[in-house]
Amino acid sequence: MNPFQYQSGELTAENLPLSTIAEQFGTPCYVYSRSALEHNLQAYEHALQGIPHLTCFAVKANSNLAVLDVLARKGAGFDIVSGGELQRVLRAGGDPRKVIFSGLGKTEAEIEQALNVDILCFNVESDPELDRINAVASRLGKRAPISLRVNPDVDAGTHPYISTGLKENKFGIDIAAAFTVYQRAAAMSHIDIVGVDCHIGSQLTTVAPYLDAVGRVLQLVDRLSDAGIKLEHFDIGGGLGVVYNKETPPEPSELINAVKEKIRGRDLTLIMEPGRSICANAGIFLTRVEFLKHTDHKHFAIVDGAMNDLLRPSLYGAWQEIVPVTQTDTAGASPDRPEFTYDVVGPVCESGDFLGKERVLRIAQGDLLAVRSAGAYGFVMSSNYNTRNRSAEIMVDGDRATVVRQRETIDYQLSLEQVLTD
Ligand SMILES: *Cc1c(COP(=O)(O)O)cnc(C)c1O
Repeated sequence: MNPFQYQSGELTAENLPLSTIAEQFGTPCYVYSRSALEHNLQAYEHALQGIPHLTCFAVKANSNLAVLDVLARKGAGFDIVSGGELQRVLRAGGDPRKVIFSGLGKTEAEIEQALNVDILCFNVESDPELDRINAVASRLGKRAPISLRVNPDVDAGTHPYISTGLKENKFGIDIAAAFTVYQRAAAMSHIDIVGVDCHIGSQLTTVAPYLDAVGRVLQLVDRLSDAGIKLEHFDIGGGLGVVYNKETPPEPSELINAVKEKIRGRDLTLIMEPGRSICANAGIFLTRVEFLKHTDHKHFAIVDGAMNDLLRPSLYGAWQEIVPVTQTDTAGASPDRPEFTYDVVGPVCESGDFLGKERVLRIAQGDLLAVRSAGAYGFVMSSNYNTRNRSAEIMVDGDRATVVRQRETIDYQLSLEQVLTD
């Protein structure tokens, strides 16, 4: 489902022209579609029907309260990686009993916070973390539900920065060592073993690495079972890819049906932690052309959005489609918009500041551009570099737009700083 379609030559979010949103709320801004978020969650929920399951949205992909609210209302659980994300989930009305706490550097304060609201499970990533969780639970007089995040040593075939399931990655516990760590956990006074987890990477475009990982983890599950350690759930993580350009990722149903087949006959709840595949294509980044700059070597479209707003192109060399909000490639396109191959760049003082390179566009100063597939790892990675105010975020529902995060102001940005007094 693509909620950002042209209607009479104007790009819309659901039924609202993006030009209207830009006029009302200014640029740059992120625009999300409520129905696309719901639709993408349903794709998981439908495919998981018939077996015990839980879909935990990976909050780090898009942590806006309204996004979490939309998903919580549809029954989603949440995968968090910090105490801050836990606070977001609770404020958005999420159920702590459906929260999985991932991440490899949990502090004592974060563990305490999570124990106090009775989350579903801690995904433990190291031996010392297990000791810390046991100690905090003991101090609070509680029992901590845990699973081990095992590293199955499979190559997810994705970008090295977003691959996490290889031996050399910092994530998880080596699958060869996991049995011993489970035995240690079983002997701990304030730990309840409830599951096993693996998350092998992001933007995966084939099912094969998942099945490879599931196969390896199931051997561990069976060995544990033989040793009297029974697991309740199997969390296969997130990572399913989306279409940015010409990728052909599997649908959630294809992945889930294959995994169901593998775990058939075992009494395990299937947990998934999708992030990108829920929200990437439910959002766009809207920006306006400030200047066109033509040099002997290159044509630049200088826009009001930059790497501080949308980091993926600069960070990973990620490709995201950039389209004009008003269609200009139709017959009789205005002669004041000659076609050039542009680098679309922001105003930040870094050569690495670009949103897209070598894009063929017919545009003029003042035009609006939309960067597609920006709903995941977009706003959440934004910063104030160059003392730029972070963008507004807008949620569209039908023909209604709601500001779900206001554009920052300079007073807000500077409010935590002060000059010396002597
Ligand atoms: C980032 C992350 C996810 C979500 O990954 P996507 O590629 O966005 O689906 C899930 N689980 C863990 C532990 C993560 O770190």
